[in-house]
Amino acid sequence: MGVIPSILGPEIGELVVVAEHDSSRGFSAPRAVARRDAALPLASPTVQYALSVFEGLKAFRGAAGGLHTFRASAHAQRLRLSAERLCLPDVPEPLFLRACAMAVEENVALVPAHGRGSLYLRPTLVGSEEYLGVRTARTHQLSVVVTTGAALELRTLRLRAERDFIRAAPGGCGAAKTGANYAGALLAQKRAHAAGYDDVLWLDAIHRRDVGEAGTMNVFFVFRDGVVTPALDGTILAGITRDTTIVLLREMGRDVVERTLPLAEIESRARAGELLEIFGTSTALRLVRVGEIGLDGGGAIRPIGGDLAERLFRQLADEQEGRVPDRHGWLEPIGARVLTAAHGR
Ligand SMILES: *Cc1c(COP(=O)(O)O)cnc(C)c1O
Repeated sequence: MGVIPSILGPEIGELVVVAEHDSSRGFSAPRAVARRDAALPLASPTVQYALSVFEGLKAFRGAAGGLHTFRASAHAQRLRLSAERLCLPDVPEPLFLRACAMAVEENVALVPAHGRGSLYLRPTLVGSEEYLGVRTARTHQLSVVVTTGAALELRTLRLRAERDFIRAAPGGCGAAKTGANYAGALLAQKRAHAAGYDDVLWLDAIHRRDVGEAGTMNVFFVFRDGVVTPALDGTILAGITRDTTIVLLREMGRDVVERTLPLAEIESRARAGELLEIFGTSTALRLVRVGEIGLDGGGAIRPIGGDLAERLFRQLADEQEGRVPDRHGWLEPIGARVLTAAHGR
């Protein structure tokens, strides 16, 4: 079983928000439609050539009952960067925010009560023109689908360092949140699952030496003298939760370094008793502990243990759910209309 499907709830919102784009007129205003009416043609660059970028963000109900999304502007910005890489149209931030807010408003009954989970939003931008051929599209569709996100607990996963397959190479699409990155990763993921691991830990494409990220999470290594996370070198995704975590760690007075991190260095420092914790970050799972990294030939890297992952998990939850003052402008309130709507469950 993959990690993500077990976390995102079974309930997909009946209403999706769509905005059509055409190269002469730009984007239409977003509108809500029934999910089954938002179909794409089979002869489309999206189905045929993976002309698709997406985001994943969450909406929460605050302690006072109001709704907000977490770091929606950062997600808007990342969608624009992904779109640029794939020759998809630029989505203005106000349109992104409006479409996300509408998707929450239209499916407000699915938003859990404060502290009980979230509504997961999946904005997606695709080519919608019907044609077969490798070129940029002339019509596009921005959509936002929502699904219930259960309350999260801090879990511990096992990763397998992947030596055969790669996720992304320098110059490729690794920094874009685009469909093809994930389809190409399934075989490695399947093998990791068959070997008893929860997910893959990707290594750099050239040498299979430096740590990149896990399947859908960024990774952090807590050494005795500081925290290290792989640098954004264009082959890994710039996770918003990664960024949030770095900010929170620095606020705690921790040293965080973003740099190239060879797996062999982690292995030798683990042997020397210097590796305290490993954790992964993502919107879907918030923060997960990594209990083990499986290596070829049966060896494994195991951290000693510590309480940083747990403290960060709680701090992230407090920030996301609005239990602490929003010092960084991370919360985007959702319209007054919603405040007076159903109170969720
Ligand atoms: C979405 C994603 C992440 C996590 O990014 P967040 O913004 O923290 O959700 C990390 N790696 C990959 C490959 C992803 O798709």
